Amino acid sequence: MRALVYTAPRQVSIEERPRPVPTAGEVEIAVSTAGICGSDISGFLGHSRRRIPPMVLGHELVGRTAAGQRVVANPLISCGHCTACLSGAQNLCSSWRLLGMDRTAGCYAEFVSIPESQLYSIPDELTDKRAVIVEPLANIVHLFRIAAPLPFFRMGIVGGGTMGSLALLTALRLGVREVLVQDVSDVRLDVARRMGVTLAVNVASEDGRAEALRFAEKGLDVVLDASGSGAARQSAFDICRPGGLVVLLGMSQERSEIDFVTSIRKEHRVAMSFAYTPVDFERSLALLKAGEIDLSPWTVEMALEEGQLAFNRMTTDPGDTLKMLLRVN
Ligand SMILES: [Zn+2]
Ligand SMILES: [Zn+2]
Repeated sequence: MRALVYTAPRQVSIEERPRPVPTAGEVEIAVSTAGICGSDISGFLGHSRRRIPPMVLGHELVGRTAAGQRVVANPLISCGHCTACLSGAQNLCSSWRLLGMDRTAGCYAEFVSIPESQLYSIPDELTDKRAVIVEPLANIVHLFRIAAPLPFFRMGIVGGGTMGSLALLTALRLGVREVLVQDVSDVRLDVARRMGVTLAVNVASEDGRAEALRFAEKGLDVVLDASGSGAARQSAFDICRPGGLVVLLGMSQERSEIDFVTSIRKEHRVAMSFAYTPVDFERSLALLKAGEIDLSPWTVEMALEEGQLAFNRMTTDPGDTLKMLLRVN
């Protein structure tokens, strides 16, 4: 089968690979469309210790079973019997694995093999372009389940990339009273404006940072860091109200400093959100089936064979592209 293989940092190429052999409980899926995730990009750049070349990346997919059923797949495979799994926190499974990570082959290939229990059938009306968002959106469903914002909440979102934008769309569905998006890219801020943000601010300048603080006023109820840089994390605390909640999602920097004493005096609550459970995945799919969340205006599709170009574009100049898709079959 054809596969897009990550061969070296910043390099992917089409190679012929043996078709996967499904083990017990697994089924073979013919991939039709695969999404490029921020974590695949960090792998591509050579920044991930768990994505070592040569390997096939990718975990966001729409495909067909041998019987012809269109499906999406929850790519986070948990063991099902550890304490975390049994308590419904499969995202914290002691031996979780993900397609396109470590030794589990990813979906930038004609076929992928995955446990049948990970599959969800989708109706024909739900296009590949829309359905493939189910995995990134599941992360957002999960964080809102943790954050459990109160009615009429005011929210801040630091980082207007794919995750920040999905959080914005979801917050609007949840009835957010006012929502601020901060980024350093004017293109992304324009996207946030078209999505219906209350205020989008470029915080690259001193003026922008002051404007964000003025908007936050006494501070926002819930602030999401969807960036993961040290500066972004600190600014999430800066715009959070006393007693408010900061949700940390972005993972770009492993370590960073926080002005803890200021936050302790404000009794900031902190939550960290990682991945999603099957419950979140199902809720995410329900939102997409209902047409309530749609990234397709900011989605670009390229052929699997153009994988190198697609990755180059997403690493150097994504512009207003929030989701890059690879068309496989
Ligand atoms: Zn993803
Ligand atoms: Zn487990």
